[in-house]
Amino acid sequence: MSYPFDLTGKVAIVTGANTGIGQGIAIALAQAGASIAAAGRSSMDETRALVEAANVPFVEIKADLGTITPVGAIVEQTVAALGGLDVLVNNAGIIRRNDAIDFTEEDWDAVMDTNLKSAFFLSQAAARHMIGNGHGKIINIASLLSFQGGIRIPSYTASKSGLAGITRLLACEWASKGINVNAIAPGYFVTNNTAALREDQDRSAQILARIPAGRWGEPSDIGGAAVFLASRASDYVHGTVLPVDGGWLAR
Ligand code: NAP
Repeated sequence: MSYPFDLTGKVAIVTGANTGIGQGIAIALAQAGASIAAAGRSSMDETRALVEAANVPFVEIKADLGTITPVGAIVEQTVAALGGLDVLVNNAGIIRRNDAIDFTEEDWDAVMDTNLKSAFFLSQAAARHMIGNGHGKIINIASLLSFQGGIRIPSYTASKSGLAGITRLLACEWASKGINVNAIAPGYFVTNNTAALREDQDRSAQILARIPAGRWGEPSDIGGAAVFLASRASDYVHGTVLPVDGGWLAR
């Protein structure tokens, strides 16, 4: 029997793979054997070099995930370039910080459109392909704000709580069709998303003091969970939100 975490011959789309957690996931999936379609709005040159070092095919797909217009095309381009689609990682996301009392409709819509609406419709486009194959893996990048309230990030909390709900709904609808829909909830990771938090020395120290592992996460810390949820090893895992948080939620 083959190694259950082996992704040789599988094709994975990772959105927002140019940096941070998305890049960490793309590298981990590639090292497990998957071909990578990196979808996003910025250059994927750095990710291309890191993925191709694992000797797997790579394609860059230009897409602005602030709108759902390109999502069907992302799936079509992936299938045309890499010969199929087995795994979708909905990673692209943004955050806007302001007190709830001052929060604008623009900041609400931008975050909800990118983090939740695009993820849902890209999952739909991917599943239309996967259902025909009888198998597929969809991994949503959720957050601690899928479980907690947080402060000063109302649309982010709404989007990530919504993403956890949609993960469960899609799992219920598609598990019988051979598609596993799950999510990963990263804790506090060193990426562009948390630059403002890490610049605030008081807030940064408070966060660090609460993390049982005693350090912030690095993008490479997410890879193992992504490989698990992308692989045969998770075939009976449906609708879960897996924290990778250094123990934050255990406190
Ligand atoms: P990041 O470095 O800011 O990465 C975000 C990614 O999303 C980038 O590739 C970004 O592309 C892409 N993206 C944003 N808006 C886009 C759009 N309209 N079209 C296409 N791509 C877009 O932060 P990150 O921490 O790695 O975030 C990745 C995911 O992890 C996000 O969903 C985030 O909410 C989640 N997360 C992060 C943390 C953390 O502590 N860092 C914790 C929990 C969850 P550009 O580079 O072009 O902007």
